[in-house]
Amino acid sequence: MISIIWFRKDLRLFDNPALFHAIAESDCVIPIFINDTSACPMGGASKWWLHHSLSALSQSLGRKLVLRQGNSLEILQQACQETEASAVYWNRRYEPESIKTDKTIKSTLEENGIQVKTYNSHLLNEPWTIKNNQGDHFKVFTPYWKHCIARSKISACLTIPTLEKLQIISGCSLESMNLLPKEPDWSAGLRESWMPGEAGAQDRLSDFMNNLSGYKENRNRPDIHATSRLSPHLTWGEISVRQIWHTMHRTLETRQTLESDALNFLSEIGWREFSYHLLFHIPTLPTQPLRQQFADFPWQDAPEAFKVWSKGLTGYPIVDAGMRELWHTGYMHNRVRMIVASFLIKDLLIPWQDGQAWFWDTLVDADLANNSASWQWVAGCGADASPYFRIFNPVLQGETFDPKGAYVRRWIPELANLPDNFIHQPWTAPDAKLSSAGIHLGYTYPYPMINHDMARKRALELYKTL
Ligand SMILES: Cc1cc2nc3c(=O)[nH]c(=O)nc-3n(C[C@H](O)[C@H](O)[C@H](O)COP(=O)(O)OP(=O)(O)OC[C@H]3O[C@@H](n4cnc5c(N)ncnc54)[C@H](O)[C@@H]3O)c2cc1C
Repeated sequence: MISIIWFRKDLRLFDNPALFHAIAESDCVIPIFINDTSACPMGGASKWWLHHSLSALSQSLGRKLVLRQGNSLEILQQACQETEASAVYWNRRYEPESIKTDKTIKSTLEENGIQVKTYNSHLLNEPWTIKNNQGDHFKVFTPYWKHCIARSKISACLTIPTLEKLQIISGCSLESMNLLPKEPDWSAGLRESWMPGEAGAQDRLSDFMNNLSGYKENRNRPDIHATSRLSPHLTWGEISVRQIWHTMHRTLETRQTLESDALNFLSEIGWREFSYHLLFHIPTLPTQPLRQQFADFPWQDAPEAFKVWSKGLTGYPIVDAGMRELWHTGYMHNRVRMIVASFLIKDLLIPWQDGQAWFWDTLVDADLANNSASWQWVAGCGADASPYFRIFNPVLQGETFDPKGAYVRRWIPELANLPDNFIHQPWTAPDAKLSSAGIHLGYTYPYPMINHDMARKRALELYKTL
């Protein structure tokens, strides 16, 4: 039997069920990746990542990865005709548009006599397999995750199959897919920060396992490298979440002192699962507030303020550091994501969907489920959300989670010489301190674009009107 394995967000060999079964059940397998130009557009940082991840995958497959561009269904039909393939294998996706596309492709291929075999490679538990006592989906994280942990028997990882059966057919070049930024090439910071691909993902996991101790205590600290930074690798399926799960449990068997760190880390993986659960059951998650009353919130149309926020020039150092980290590396620490999102939504009254779109364009881990659920969570309009009246104070957040200002100094070098007690509120520093630190407020670094206390009161008043 000749088969096609259609790679999507599963750009790895280890524990890749579609690849494993295609090779086990076929005489000859053609590995394809399709850059579907009719699908939801990717952000710039995602495209950069995809380019490098495909390059790494192609190398691992002995340069046998076929790249094509266009409509997925047409390309798969063409490829089946050219190769006389009688089966197509893929790993399942969960975004509403992808589900629709995959259903159409599956039924059309099957009508043409081609077998379609699909698998779970992306999640510990697929969204429809987890139900509450009423047989409905979960709306609150804690009972969801407890339920998952109680039931879970996570299947073992699949090995890397031998690749002798792989065959190549004609395709386009990676360069012709135009995924890399040109004129200007803004990707230098991304190149410095990441190694896309399966080998990079495996390195990240082993580094993180060596540094797991202290995760629980320090995961909220952007000035300390305490989190795994596995998110882009997970987003692109360069590492299997099952592998992470089993690695963590094996570690627990031998090193019980790490229990609270490991369980805390797994609960973050649980938030990822929960976001997928929500997106599957509530397909409007990326666009509509889950709490309907928020549809009438009097958001402001403030394109200039949005620009100031996106460039990291708000005058609040922790917000600006986060936005600059994002622009430079395609990543932002989770605590800082919450702070900058709260500032955009509650201090500037700009719709959460605008922030979500900016993150979609600039994050290397841009993920429809996680991004939508997290923005709704901060806005207070999501399932199990942070209450609307919880408005992050950017100064206190900075002082609590970046106490010496190391994170701010790293991303805002113009503030580097300011003493610790002013680093999160430079406008309170005496003139002498500012000038000896080489800072001229309003010139070298902005004054706050808005008074936080006033903005907080304004947001709470508006919230009362809902
Ligand atoms: C406004 C906002 C937008 C976000 N957008 C995205 C996004 O587009 N893509 C994305 O992957 N994450 C997103 N997150 C969640 C979180 O910030 C990142 O997953 C995390 O910062 C990744 O860093 P890490 O891999 O070092 O995390 P770790 O702490 O090492 O966590 C391990 C893994 O768990 C998952 N995870 C951790 N925290 C969360 C969370 N709060 N929600 C869901 N999954 C989580 C990620 O897959 C992460 O890689 C967003 C959070 C906020 C507040």
